Amino acid sequence: MKSRIPVLIAGGGPVGLALAVELGWRGIACALVEQTDGKITTPKMNEVNVRTMEFCRRWGIAEAVQNCPFPADYPVDVVFVTNLAGYELGRVPRAARNSAQPEPFSAMRFQVCSQFWFDPILQNFARTLPSVELLYRHRLEGFEQSRDAVAAEVVDLATGNRMRVEADYLVGCDGANSAIRTALGIELEGAGTIGHPVHMFFRTPDLLERFGRARGTFFFPVDHDGVWGSLRVIDPRNGIWRLMVDDTDGTVTAENVDRESYLRRVLGREIEVEWLGVSIWHRRSVVAERYSRGRVFLAGDAVHQLSPTGALGMNSGIGDAVDLGWKLAAVLDGWAHPRLLDTYDTERRPIGVRNVKMATRFYQSVDGFSGVHPAIGQDSPDGERARHELGERLVHDVGPEFRTIGLQIGYRYEDSPICIPDGTQAPPDTAETYTPSARPGARAPHAWLRDGRTIHDLFGRGFALLRFDGAPGTSALEKAAAARGVPLRAETLDEPDAARLYERGLVLVRPDGHVAWRSDTLPADPAGLIERVRGAGSA
Ligand SMILES: Cc1cc2nc3c(=O)[nH]c(=O)nc-3n(C[C@H](O)[C@H](O)[C@H](O)COP(=O)(O)OP(=O)(O)OC[C@H]3O[C@@H](n4cnc5c(N)ncnc54)[C@H](O)[C@@H]3O)c2cc1C
Repeated sequence: MKSRIPVLIAGGGPVGLALAVELGWRGIACALVEQTDGKITTPKMNEVNVRTMEFCRRWGIAEAVQNCPFPADYPVDVVFVTNLAGYELGRVPRAARNSAQPEPFSAMRFQVCSQFWFDPILQNFARTLPSVELLYRHRLEGFEQSRDAVAAEVVDLATGNRMRVEADYLVGCDGANSAIRTALGIELEGAGTIGHPVHMFFRTPDLLERFGRARGTFFFPVDHDGVWGSLRVIDPRNGIWRLMVDDTDGTVTAENVDRESYLRRVLGREIEVEWLGVSIWHRRSVVAERYSRGRVFLAGDAVHQLSPTGALGMNSGIGDAVDLGWKLAAVLDGWAHPRLLDTYDTERRPIGVRNVKMATRFYQSVDGFSGVHPAIGQDSPDGERARHELGERLVHDVGPEFRTIGLQIGYRYEDSPICIPDGTQAPPDTAETYTPSARPGARAPHAWLRDGRTIHDLFGRGFALLRFDGAPGTSALEKAAAARGVPLRAETLDEPDAARLYERGLVLVRPDGHVAWRSDTLPADPAGLIERVRGAGSA
C-alpha cells in the first residue's frame, strides 16, 4: 500500500466498493481497506434497483448483474400466506426478468441479485481498474486530519503490521456502526431502533414444489399475530432461503434463537433443513446530522440506516457513492473548486431523509397488520371471507413497497447550488409514480435514440451539453468550460422524442447524469454558468 494516496476508503461493503469503482472508472487512485476477507456468508441485500442498474450499465457491469445465478425465468412475486402449507391470502405479481415488460422510464430494470453475487461483481470489476487497490483483512484503526491531508492508521490483520497512510480524502463506508462517524462527533437523528430482527439462513431443495406453492421470492406469513416475519428465497437453484422474524424484543441471540419453532410456524409442518447461519441486526430509522467534516466524508449505512422495506438501503448508498465520486474526482483532477465537495451533503442528505422516511412508512404498513381475524386459518365460509378481506387489504397496503419507481429514479437535488433553477414547478415526488423531468436537479430522463441507445449512453464521464435540433450554437459555453479545464462534450441531437421530453433546446447534464441547467438560449454569462457548476459560484 502506498503511503500517500488521493482517496482512502474504509469499508468494502457494496457502498465502499461502488465508490472505489466510480473513482477507478474516472482514473482516480484510491485504496479501499476492508477488515473482513470480503466473502459474503450472510447476505443482506437482494434487490438492485433501477437507478443502481443504470450506474452498473455506465460502468459496463450491468450484464454481469443481470446474468447472476438468480434464474431469469423465476417470478419475483410477493405472496401472503397463513403459512407455506396453509392458505394463500394474496399475491403481488412481479414478473420474472425474461418475461417482464421493459421499464418505460429506463433502459434498465430492477434486478434480483443477492449480495452473494453482487459484491463479487463489484470486487472483480474494481480489480480491473488500474488505479484501485483493494486491501482485504485490513482495518482502519484511527485517523487525524489537518488542513491539507488525512493521516490514517491501518493495520494488516494477517500480519499485525501497522502503517500510516496519508490521503487527500478519507471516506467512511464503514457501515451502521461507523467508527469514523463517531470519531467525527457526528450524531444520528431520527426514530432510532425500531426493531430487532433475526435472520436464519437455511438450505433445502425444491421447497415450494414440496409445498405445492407457485413460485415467488417473498412469502409473508400471517396468523393471529398479524404479519410476523418473512421467508425469502436467496438462491433458488441451490435452495437457499432466509427466514426473518421480527417479533423479538432484542434479547434473542444467534445462540438461543429457536430456529426450529420459527421454521415450523412459517412452513406449517415439520421438515428437515440444513441451517447455514443466523444474523441479528437492528432495524433503524436514522440519518446522520451531516455527511462530512473537513476532508472526511461518510456514505451508505454510515449515514443512513433504514428498514429494508422498499430495498432502499444499499441503493441509496450507491447513489451517495456516485455523487461523491464524481465530485472528489473533479476536485482531485483540478477542474472543480473544493467547495464542490460541500454539495455532497446538500444534495445527498435530503435524499437520505426522504428514503429513510419512506422505508419506515413501508415497514409500518407491514407491521400494522395485527388484530387479524381468528378465522383466517379455518376451512369454513367465515374463514374464506376473512382470508379474502385480509388478502385484499395486504395487497393494497403492503403492495406499494414493491412498486417504487418514483423513489428509485424520481429523486432530485432541489436547492443545490450547482443546479440552476429554471423557474418551472417540480413534478410530485411520489413513491409509486415517476414523472419524467429534465428540470435542473433531476436525473436526466431516459429516452431511446434512433440508433437503439438510451440518451444516458451519451453522457460519458464529464458534462454533456445536449443541443437539440434548432437550438443556438454552443461554442461560447464550450470555450468557457475549456478555459476552466471543465470536461464538457457537446452533442447535437436530431431526436424529436427526446427533445420533447427535455423541453429545452440546450441541456447541461452533469457527470452523474443529473441536469445542471437548461434553456432555449445561451446563458448571458457562459463563464458564470461554468463557475456555478464547478462549485466556484456563489450559492
Ligand atoms: C435484511 C436486509 C435486506 C436488505 N435488502 C436490501 C435490498 O434489497 N436492497 C438494498 O438496496 N439494500 C438492502 N439492504 C440494506 C443493505 O444491505 C445495506 O444498506 C448495505 O449493505 C449498506 O452497505 P454499506 O457498504 O454502506 O455498509 P456495510 O454493508 O455494512 O459494509 C460496511 C463494511 O465496512 C467494514 N468496516 C467497518 N469498519 C471498518 C474499519 N474500521 N476498517 C475496515 N473495514 C471496516 C465492514 O466489515 C463492512 O464490510 C438490506 C438490509 C437488510 C438488513
